Parts: sequence; structure tokens; C-alpha cells
Amino acid sequence: MASGEDKRAKDAAMELAEAARETEWQFPSFTAEMFKGNFRWDLMYPYPEQDPEDKKIGDELQAKVKEVLEKYVDPIEIDRTGEYPKEAIKALSDLGIFSMKISKEYGGLGLSQINYARMLSYIASYCQSTVTWVSAHQSIGVPQPLKDFGTPEQKKKFLPKICAGAISAFALTEPDVGSDPAKMSTTATPSEDGSYYLLNGDKLWTTNGPDADIIVVMAKTPPKIKNGREIPQISAFVFETKDENGNYVPGFEVVHRCKFMGLKGLSNGLLRFNNARVPAENIIGKPGMGLKIALTTLNTGRLGVPAAGAGACKSFLDDAAWWSANRVQWGQAVGKHQAISKKLANFAATTFAMQAMVQLTCAFADKKNADIRLEAAAAKYFCTEQTWAICDDLLQVMGGRGYEMATSLYNRGDKPFTVERAMRDMRVGRIFEGSSEVMHLIMAREAMDTHFKLAMPIIQPKPGQKEGKLSLILKAMKFYAGWYPKTWMPAQKNFGVKHLSAASRGHLKFAAKTCKKLARRLFHTMAKYGPKLEYEQVILGNFVEIGVDLFVMAASLAYADHLLAKNPSDRTPEELADLFCSAARRRIAANFDAVSNQFNRKYKKVAVNLMDGKYRWLIQDVYNDLPPQYRDYAKNAPKSVGAEDMMTARK
Ligand SMILES: Cc1cc2nc3c(=O)[nH]c(=O)nc-3n(C[C@H](O)[C@H](O)[C@H](O)COP(=O)(O)OP(=O)(O)OC[C@H]3O[C@@H](n4cnc5c(N)ncnc54)[C@H](O)[C@@H]3O)c2cc1C
Repeated sequence: MASGEDKRAKDAAMELAEAARETEWQFPSFTAEMFKGNFRWDLMYPYPEQDPEDKKIGDELQAKVKEVLEKYVDPIEIDRTGEYPKEAIKALSDLGIFSMKISKEYGGLGLSQINYARMLSYIASYCQSTVTWVSAHQSIGVPQPLKDFGTPEQKKKFLPKICAGAISAFALTEPDVGSDPAKMSTTATPSEDGSYYLLNGDKLWTTNGPDADIIVVMAKTPPKIKNGREIPQISAFVFETKDENGNYVPGFEVVHRCKFMGLKGLSNGLLRFNNARVPAENIIGKPGMGLKIALTTLNTGRLGVPAAGAGACKSFLDDAAWWSANRVQWGQAVGKHQAISKKLANFAATTFAMQAMVQLTCAFADKKNADIRLEAAAAKYFCTEQTWAICDDLLQVMGGRGYEMATSLYNRGDKPFTVERAMRDMRVGRIFEGSSEVMHLIMAREAMDTHFKLAMPIIQPKPGQKEGKLSLILKAMKFYAGWYPKTWMPAQKNFGVKHLSAASRGHLKFAAKTCKKLARRLFHTMAKYGPKLEYEQVILGNFVEIGVDLFVMAASLAYADHLLAKNPSDRTPEELADLFCSAARRRIAANFDAVSNQFNRKYKKVAVNLMDGKYRWLIQDVYNDLPPQYRDYAKNAPKSVGAEDMMTARK
């Protein structure tokens, strides 16, 4: 249990995060509705078709991107040397690839989200380092928050610079805060006349940071006092790193360039602000809106990650199909051995589902004021988890060649497959732009939203809350008297689909029915645990998994129907949707079963005992120490969780 101080800090962080949530939407969320028991098929059917004019723009750009990639980008060499070719950045920038999200008014390409995702997917199917440069720059870097929150003056000042080649980055994470940015320690102190702020603090793992010209930096500004209480404030700034001669401005320093297991061509670093001056007019939105801006930016921004995952998986599928058909063992193609067939089939069905989900979510994002928080979280979660699983299966299907590095394969005359590099490059997808666990938290929070909104004011009234307990109880009873019986009513049976077979319609009926069951079981579980359900992450995780599978099932079926409409004689999209849905139904059943058969207490007990050192007896006969020359590693490092403690605790 958290100490009093920890709890107050956590409550303050939660309050700040809650205040940062967007609340007004015109186009509702399919997933949020689903958690309430409403299967809003109408939101995704008919499956959105890309406007032909828009598609033409994407097709033409893609052909040009191909030329640049072929000429300037050698992913194998980038991986080997850890150097990213600057001419590739220049060529991509000249093509507008670093200003895809900026409207034409400011010199950008002004692409739709669908075309943007298509380009990311396409680049990712070839080189992960390249797509990360491009995506960090504008999915989360300056163009995105300025698009959503910038003033006309800010847009006029910064966006043309980006179109002319300035590189951008997004600096939220710090050595001591990752998933919980509300507790950041970087500060922005206003000058006496309020004309500028001084930034102080360290920002860790800022992608593009060491090479960036313009960075979005989130920092704490002085707290507001409301009803005698201090309300922490975080603000977002546009920070220009270089002067007119291209030197870093005073107070800004790249302390360290980070290197990772994959994405070897990344420019990423630990950035330090030491009384770095930023003009007050560079605040994005209003002071205090920084966390909201960061979280909103990540909502749309994180759509880039699943788009990249889907693109990469399509490429891997191509390799897998070729390899499995051509590699013969025990007298037949390895893809015909059932154990491998199963992997290949799931691989194809999942890639189809990823494509369906990414395209659909981007079409949602292109609508005005659409609530895509949950769809983006679901897409990010599903696609990155599946990409990792697919990489692992692909490596297995390729056997020893899957494990061998591309250069080694090539040098001995074999095809330099990308799977070994892909595994290293793709793994971080489950961590950055919100980890998988954080995606679960976001979705779980929304899953419980209706119930929490009704129950929390009764159970834990806020200071100054006006409405009395009795009135709140009556309100809740009235809501549940109408809502709960509906979760037992038969689900819709007619979906207006024209091309799907009876079996696929069966999957749709299952999804609609299960959506009601999901809402009902969630409510029962809420009733059992009360507000403590928030801490039952494993149970909530099962509900979230069910929700994600239902969303992907629906997206896949809508997409299959759409493709069948275009070409009724080709039933292959339906084969893929059917396999995905059949597997998803099994997972859903297992997740419902797990909700009532948890051994959460056992997990908790063992994990706490482990952290308390009670299993030291198990960790015997190992030489788990650093080589002597590394033992002074923390001497120059900023305060970082666990650094020295980890070593001393063992002694
Ligand atoms: C290659 C790379 C590029 C990056 N680029 C950027 C960038 O451009 N800008 C930027 O600001 N940041 C960037 N990051 C940082 C990235 O966003 C963070 O790594 C991520 O947010 C997770 O934070 P953390 O690593 O500190 O993990 P922690 O927050 O310390 O979490 C450790 C583990 O605990 C889990 N966890 C944490 N809280 C909870 C909870 N409440 N419930 C359940 N599980 C929990 C996490 O999921 C994780 O598995 C990058 C990181 C990497 C590796």
C-alpha cells in the first residue's frame, strides 16, 4: 500500500491526468460505446473507402518515396554502422516527407491521416530507422501539437521552417518519469516581466533530439492556487535549439546520445536544459495545458506506430510466403508441415486484421472532432503486440537463417533476410509512445468510466461537492434500472452486410452479443470490487483484451465486406477475416473464464516477496555483477531510479 505522501502525490498526478483528458467529441468512439454494451456497427459500416483523389495523391507520393529509399537508404548498412545518412533526410525532406502533416498553407503536403499512415506503413516496410525519424518528427514533434493547439502566429513562425528542413522532436520523458509524466521535474520559471521562461531539467530518450532544430518541451510552470490548494501546472513550449549559426543556444546541451538494441539509425539522446531561455509566446495553448497537449498529441500521434507495424508485417508476410514455399525439408515445403502452416495462417490473418484496424482508425481520425483515444490505444496495443509475436514466429519459420544477421547471410551468399533486425527494431513498439501496460490503463479507465462517474461521487465525495448522497444514489438507480436490463436483451441480428457469408455473419452476431456480455460482466465485477477494481489490473486486462478483440473482429469483417463488394469472386479476404475471428473467439472465451478464475493474490504475494528479497535463496550460484570497470557507472548520471540502489541492495 502506498504511504500517505505517495498517495497524495499519486492523487495529484491522477487529478492532473484527469484534467488533461479531452471530453467533448462529435464523432463517438466505437470502443467506448462497446464497453457500455452498445455495438455501434454503424460507426464502421460501410467500411470507409479512401477518396479516389486522395488515394491518387498517396499513390504518387509513394512512388517518389520508393525512389528516395532506393537511392539513399540501405537499412542493412544503417544497422551495421549505426549511422543514418544525412542525404536521405535531405532527400525525404525535399520530397515533403517531413512535412506530410503540415497544411499546404504553410508549405507542407497537408496529407490526410490515411495517406500519412500509408506513407509510414510503406517506409516501415523497408526501414524502421527511417520511419522512426519521420514519425517522431511529426506524429508527436512540433507539427502535431501546433496543428491542434498552436496560434496562427506560432504556425506562421515555425511550420514553414519545418517545411524548409528543420527537424523536430517531442521531449516528455525524463530519467525519473516515463509512464507517469505528470510527476515530471523539468521546470519553466517565468521571468519577472513574464516575457520569457527559463527551462531547467533533463529530458531522456528524445527521438531526433540530438539533431533537432525545434523541440516540444513539457515543463512544470508555477502552480495555481485554487480553494487554498496548489494545483500543479505543466506547460508545453516550442524550444528552438540552435542559433542563426547552427550552434546550440546557451543552456541547451545534448548530454548523451543513446543507442539501442535496434533502430540503430536513430538519433536519440539525453537533453539537458540549464537556464535555457524560451520566449513566453512559444507556449503552446495556455500555461497549464501542457499535459493535455502532450496526451492529446500522443492520442493521434500513436497512430503512426500501428501503421508502421502493419507495413512491416506485410513485408514480413511476403518473405514468409516465399521462404515457406521454397525451403524444402523432409520432402516438402516447410510451409506445408502443419506446425508451420498454423503460424503462417495466423500470421496472414493477423496482418489482415492489422490493416483493417489501422485504415479504419485513420479514417476515424480524419473526421472532425472524432473521439479516437481508445481506437488509437487499441490499434497501438494490438499492432505492436502482434508485430512482436509475428517477428518471433517468422524467425522460427526461417530457422537458423532467421537468427543470422543480414550481413553474415549475404557474405556467405544467402538472401539477407530482415527478420533478425526486425526483431530488434520492432520490440520498442511495445514500450514507446505509451507502453502496452499504459494502453491497457487508458482503455480500462474508459471501460469503467460510466460506472465510476456514477459511483465515485457517492463513495468518495469531492471537497465542495454540492449534490447530496441520496440524490446521487437515486440518479444511479434510475440509470441502472434502464441500462442493466438492456444488457440482457437480444443483440441486433441484422447488420445490413451484403457480401459476407453466413459464417461471417455468425461472427458479427457473436460480436454484438458479446459486447452486451462484456458490459454486464464489467458491471458485475465493478459491483464486486468497487473502486478497488482500479487496482485489479489483471482482471481489467482481461476485459480490455476482450474489448480489443471485439473491435478488431468488427473492423476485419467490415473490411472483408468492403473488399468483397469490390471483387465478389475473390473470397480470400473473408478467409482471413474468418480465421482471425475464429481465433479471437477462443481468446475471448479464455479471457471471460480468466475474469472469474484469477489467482491475482498469488501473483501479488510472489512479486512482493521477490522484491523484498525473500527468494534470495533461489538466486544463488550466479555471477550477476558488472565487470569491475563499469561499477562506477552512476558517478556522472542524473538521479535515476534504482541506479546505485540496485547494486547495493544485492550486497
Ligand atoms: C527508442 C525510444 C524512443 C523514445 N522516444 C521518446 C521521445 O521521442 N520522446 C519522449 O518523451 N519519450 C520517448 N521515449 C520514452 C518512452 O516513451 C518511455 O520509455 C515510455 O513512456 C515508458 O517509460 P519508461 O521507459 O520510463 O518505463 P516506466 O514508466 O519506468 O515503466 C516500467 C514498466 O512498468 C510498466 N508500468 C509503468 N506504470 C505502470 C502502471 N501504472 N501500471 C502497470 N504497468 C506500469 C511499464 O509499462 C513498463 O513495462 C522513447 C523511448 C525509447 C526506448
